[in-house]
Amino acid sequence: MNAGAPIPLVDLRSQYASIKSEIDEAVQRVLNEANFILGPEVEGFERSFADYVGTSGAVGVASGTAALELALRALGIGPGDEVITPAHTFIATAGAVSNVGARPVFADAEPTYLTMDPAHCESLITPRTRAIIPVDLYGHPAHLEELEEIARRHGLFLIEDAAQAHGAELNGRRCGSFGDIACFSFYPGKNLGAYGDAGAVTSNDPALLDRVRRLRDHGRTSKYEHETVGQAERMDALQAAVLSVKLAHLEDWTEARRRHAGEYSKLLDGANVELPAEADDARHVYHLYVIRTDARDGMLEHLHAAGIGAGIHYPIPLHQQPAYARDGYAGTALPVTEEAAPRVLSLPMYAELTDEQIGRIVDAVVAYRA
Ligand SMILES: *Cc1c(COP(=O)(O)O)cnc(C)c1O
Repeated sequence: MNAGAPIPLVDLRSQYASIKSEIDEAVQRVLNEANFILGPEVEGFERSFADYVGTSGAVGVASGTAALELALRALGIGPGDEVITPAHTFIATAGAVSNVGARPVFADAEPTYLTMDPAHCESLITPRTRAIIPVDLYGHPAHLEELEEIARRHGLFLIEDAAQAHGAELNGRRCGSFGDIACFSFYPGKNLGAYGDAGAVTSNDPALLDRVRRLRDHGRTSKYEHETVGQAERMDALQAAVLSVKLAHLEDWTEARRRHAGEYSKLLDGANVELPAEADDARHVYHLYVIRTDARDGMLEHLHAAGIGAGIHYPIPLHQQPAYARDGYAGTALPVTEEAAPRVLSLPMYAELTDEQIGRIVDAVVAYRA
């Protein structure tokens, strides 16, 4: 079984090798300029990323978590407010809500894409609700049009967590262009990843973008003038330079991910696992290729023994995490989320994956007998 080199979940080394000269040149340029925080590198990346997403602007920040927190603060959300988020997501989605002093209220997932269930979301709206944060989970757009409509009807803000969905689309519109403001992460393993922490918000509202721009940098309006008390959540020039190089490759990498997903789905058709779905009006960018099986834990162990870096996203729903379970969420029941968490299994996914590797992974999945 252990034939061949280990296959990681994500392979950042092979990606660097493929663009080494461009990256090295960009990094050297920043070192020579010695302008390390914000500045022209960040402004240049913000412009090209906004054009890519299709919004009027983007603001580069220190991480995806910072993007979410700054978006919430810029919308005036804080203590006493409720924000509806999924529980089947990375903890940052809800953590940002808690960090600004508001209360996350967890909506269940819908069974096909495991993104936020719009009907359940709407049933959770109270007079304290201020915003909804859907997540474009695994790289598939959430039900963004329905959620925009619900937000509009109830006078709520919609904050799109597009941290896993660079380049994803719904009805020809790119993820990151829905709602009032969207948040991206450029954590190294994301589809567009920096060489350290970085993130961005995108929006078509210039006043809102300006508020985020001030809040990320000590509420600054000029060097020594501070309109509000802000934070130090700026993007660095090195990350912006790396991201500008990588953005030019993103479409090719996304198409490669989509080919690999197609290959997985073709080869796994008929195997005893549930395959990821892509809606007719969506472009899935396969940040993760997630299958579902009742035999998840045994299959994971079997894949690891075969040198295959499969993973679980996410094993513990947020309302059951110690961080939230003791905090008044004991009564929260989210049946679809709770059913999915023990069944999801992420197979290796990155642009440089080869057909030979996909073949080995599929053979290992199919060979497993619970
Ligand atoms: C990665 C991620 C974040 C957080 O981004 P960081 O850059 O790690 O702070 C937020 N939401 C989702 C859905 C993510 O996957």
